[in-house]
Amino acid sequence: MTPDRDIFRFPAEAYEVLRTLEAAGHEAYFVGGCVRDSVMGRPINDVDIATSARWEETASACQAAGMRAHETGVKHGTVTIVAGQHGFEVTTYRVDSATSADARHPDSVAFVSSIEEDLARRDFAMNAMAWHPERGLVDPHRGMGDIKAGVIRVVGDPARRFREDALRILRACRFASQLGFRIDDATYEAMLSQKHLLENVSTERVTHELDLMLLGAHVHDALMRTVDVVSFVLPELVAMKGCTQPTKYHCFDVLEHTAWAVQEARPTRLVRWAALCHDMGKPACRFLDADGVVHFYGHAAVGPGIARDMANRLLMSNAFKDGLCALVENHSDTVAATPRSVKRALAKLGGDVERLRSLLALKRADIRAHAPAYRSQTASIDDIERTLDAIVAEGEAFSVAQLAIGGRDVIATGVAEGPAVGAALQAALDAVIEGSVENERAQLLAFLGQPTTR
Ligand code: ATP
Ligand code: MG
Repeated sequence: MTPDRDIFRFPAEAYEVLRTLEAAGHEAYFVGGCVRDSVMGRPINDVDIATSARWEETASACQAAGMRAHETGVKHGTVTIVAGQHGFEVTTYRVDSATSADARHPDSVAFVSSIEEDLARRDFAMNAMAWHPERGLVDPHRGMGDIKAGVIRVVGDPARRFREDALRILRACRFASQLGFRIDDATYEAMLSQKHLLENVSTERVTHELDLMLLGAHVHDALMRTVDVVSFVLPELVAMKGCTQPTKYHCFDVLEHTAWAVQEARPTRLVRWAALCHDMGKPACRFLDADGVVHFYGHAAVGPGIARDMANRLLMSNAFKDGLCALVENHSDTVAATPRSVKRALAKLGGDVERLRSLLALKRADIRAHAPAYRSQTASIDDIERTLDAIVAEGEAFSVAQLAIGGRDVIATGVAEGPAVGAALQAALDAVIEGSVENERAQLLAFLGQPTTR
C-alpha cells in the first residue's frame, strides 16, 4: 500500500538533496518522523534523509551542488545539509550495536548497505518507514498498519530494544501523548519491566521527553495509561494515584484531576508543568474530619516544595523553577475581577503580567478538571483577564518599579539605606493599589512623610 505522493509536502530543497545524492550514484530516502507525520496528515517537524552514501560522500556531493554541509554527527554518519532556508539531517544507513553500557548511547555504530537494515534499528514500526518519490514506501515492519490502528509497537523484541536504549520507553509515552495512539500490550509490558533502566538515561533527555509528553494533544490519556512507567522519573505521581477527593467539587482522584488539568491547560511549557504540579501537595495534606469530610488544607503551601525538588532533579532552569513554584503556590488564591484585587495578585507575583496570565491559564485548566457542575466557573477567570487587560492598557501601577518615586526619594525623606527603603516603597505601592494615594510624585512624597507609613 503506497500512499499518494501528494501527501509528502517536503520543501523543494529536500527533494533536491535526494536527487543530488542519487545523481552521484548513491541511494537515498526520506525516513522516520517526516514519513509518519505525512501519512498521518500532521505537520512535519524535520525532514530526515537516510542514504547509502558515507558522510564524506554526502558532504562532497551536496557541496558540489552548491549546498552547505555541517559535520553535526559524523561519528554516527550524520551531516546536516543546508539548502536554501532549510537544514536536513542526512545519515548513512547504519545499525547500532545491540548492547550499550549506559542504555542510551550505542557502543558503536556499523554502517550497512540497505535501507531495510537501517529501518530495523529504529524504535517503533510507525517510525521505521522510508519513502522515495519514485520507489514509494518501504515499510517492512508494518508501520502503515500500526498508524491506521493507532498503535505504538517496538520494532523487534521490546525488552531487548529497551535494554539497548531506555530512552525509547519515554519516547513511547510521549508519542502516545502527541499522536493519541495506544501502546501495544507487549511493548507496554516491556516498558514496565525495563523502566528501571531509565536510571541510566541523561536527565536532559528525560526532561525533554517529559516536556514533549506534557505538551501533547492527548496528554490525559497518555498520562493515565503510562503512569506506572512515567512514575519512575516522576515519583511524585505515585501518591496522587488513588488519592480520592470525595467532595462536591471533584469527580476524579488527584491523579486523574491532574491529568485533565494538564490536558485542558494552554499548551505552553510553564502552564502544562504547573498543571501537573498544582495539586502535588494534596496527598500529604489529605485528612478526614469528624464528619467524614475530606480536606486538603495547606496543600498549596506544601506543593511548591515538592515541585521545586522535582524541578531540581530534572535540572530545570532557575527562572523556570521560580515561575513553576509561584504558580503552584498561588493556584488556589481567590482573585476578584476588580482592579484592586487584580493589582494585588500582580504585586504578589512581582508585577509580572505574563506570570499572572499563566496563573489564570492554570486556574482555568484547574476549573475545567473539576466536577461538571463547577466547570462553568471559568467565566470568572475571563472577567479577571479583562480587568488585567484594562490595567495594562491604562498603565496603572502594580509594581514598585512603576511608582512615580524611587529609592533615592525615600532616602531623601530620612529613611536609612537598606531594607527599610524597599519596605517604604512597598507601603507606597500598597496605598496606590488600595486607591488611597495617586501614583503621583507629590502625593507619594507626602504619603512617605507620614510617620505612620514607616
Ligand atoms: P519528532 O521529530 O516529531 O519529535 P521523530 O520520529 O522525527 O519525531 P526524532 O527524534 O527526530 O523523532 O528521530 C528521527 C527518527 O530516528 C525516528 O523517527 C526514529 O526512526 C529514529 N529514532 C530516534 N530516536 C531513536 C531511538 N532512541 N531509538 C531508535 N530509533 C530512534
Ligand atoms: Mg524528527
